[in-house]
Amino acid sequence: MKIAIIGGGIAGASSAIYLRSLGLSVTLFEKKPFLVSGPPACHLHAGGNLYPDIDDEQRKRLLQESITFLRHYPQAIEKRPTLLAVPKHIELDAQELEKRAELLAKYYKELIEQDSANQVLGDPQHYSLAFSKSQIKRLQSLPTPKVPQNHIEWLIAFSKEVDLERLKFPVLLIQEYGINIFRLSALAHLYLQDAPIYFNTKVVDVKQQDNQFFITFKKEGKIRVRKFDFLINAAGFESGTIDDMLGFKINRLVEFKAAYVAQYKSEHLYPEIIFHGIRGTDRGMAQFTPYSGGYYQLHGMRKDITLFEDGIASSTPTSSQPQLAKKYLEWIENGWPKDVVLHRTNHAIEYLSRYLHDFKNAKPIITPLFGAQQIPGDDLSLRAAEVSFEGENYARCEIVKVSSIFAMLEQIGTRLAKLGVVSQRKLKKQRFFSKQVDEKQIEHLACTIAKARGYPKQMAKLSLAYLVQDRPS
Ligand SMILES: Cc1cc2nc3c(=O)[nH]c(=O)nc-3n(C[C@H](O)[C@H](O)[C@H](O)COP(=O)(O)OP(=O)(O)OC[C@H]3O[C@@H](n4cnc5c(N)ncnc54)[C@H](O)[C@@H]3O)c2cc1C
Repeated sequence: MKIAIIGGGIAGASSAIYLRSLGLSVTLFEKKPFLVSGPPACHLHAGGNLYPDIDDEQRKRLLQESITFLRHYPQAIEKRPTLLAVPKHIELDAQELEKRAELLAKYYKELIEQDSANQVLGDPQHYSLAFSKSQIKRLQSLPTPKVPQNHIEWLIAFSKEVDLERLKFPVLLIQEYGINIFRLSALAHLYLQDAPIYFNTKVVDVKQQDNQFFITFKKEGKIRVRKFDFLINAAGFESGTIDDMLGFKINRLVEFKAAYVAQYKSEHLYPEIIFHGIRGTDRGMAQFTPYSGGYYQLHGMRKDITLFEDGIASSTPTSSQPQLAKKYLEWIENGWPKDVVLHRTNHAIEYLSRYLHDFKNAKPIITPLFGAQQIPGDDLSLRAAEVSFEGENYARCEIVKVSSIFAMLEQIGTRLAKLGVVSQRKLKKQRFFSKQVDEKQIEHLACTIAKARGYPKQMAKLSLAYLVQDRPS
């Protein structure tokens, strides 16, 4: 059976890695020159702690899916904790968040009891730790360590540099790690080195005839057609264009969003810091995400920072592809106007410095991390989604968070087993993929990809690796 995958984001690239590991014949079409170079992903979301609005079932699903992701892509992970704080002016109960995190810690323990290899977020007793104001204030007299070695040390910079008077307590320290998107991209390339991939190739039409797919694609100005037996639509926010080519009707939303990059002093490592808020209002959540080399990714869940006034579009009865405003499609294809980036990045810096006063001295970097993502259905708060099928041999990837890919792959594998393409025994034996890739190779390629995409190459390194190897004297 010949399988085609349209789109080389994390969904399409991981599908290709997995199906090849099952011995299947896979061809991937990607219109860009790199794999995993669409919208960013910097949080693993192991437990959905950044989303107080989602229910406990969805949080558990995100925790379980993130653990699987961590087990299979460990070299793309930035291991450092996340501090969750609720500002005083936000109507969220910090103690309620503590209780919900305790529930997740219990579930994490259950997952470890089922399979000890699931213990990838440390000791479940330390999954979530709560600190009172007095406990945090006591840390102010300690020297700030360059590289924190334990939970308490991760809190020291926070205790001194964040305006504690603006916060409710407890503050939570959660084992929520980061994803380095450049390293994830490098890993996908290294895993798929000898795979048949058409880069810089846009699929312009798909027709279904006698249960086969005829894919028309354009490469270097030339149009060609190839025939396949099974199609995986992994075109991300453009999945609706493929659905439309085939006449499949489905509801989905598309959201355009952006995070910004700033450079700030880097005498010591910071944890990820989340100042909770109310999405889409001028009190939206502020997120401070450290990368190596003194670079920080900033989100402000307000319409003048991360979100956009007209940034959401939905499918219509006549088209499964939501139509984003033309200017966002152009920004995705050709980049942003510099003045807009500068304005929004400065705004993000100002928003974060309300809590972290010295951060007002951070310098904006003029390449945002941005893009559009699809959300199946019509619920904008949906975070855990995987894949849907049309007929026997068409799979539509619908992930909202990258950690959902393994649940997605499991369903695609089951479908192929049902078609008799792969045996159940093989599926059980070949549980996804996992291969230790040479660190130097990943770092070198990740830096090359970051630079080619216009980002500082230090952002492609892991913070601890950066401090150990490359810290300027
Ligand atoms: C600002 C922002 C921040 C985010 N932060 C996080 C986060 O912290 N954690 C997290 O888990 N998720 C995050 N997300 C969501 C995450 O980025 C997406 O869930 C993920 O990228 C979806 O992966 P995908 O492979 O489905 O789609 P994509 O990554 O969009 O890949 C689709 C690919 O298909 C290609 N393509 C499309 N049409 C065609 C065609 N006709 N022919 C050939 N190729 C085609 C595209 O070029 C693209 O490379 C964030 C999203 C945004 C916008």
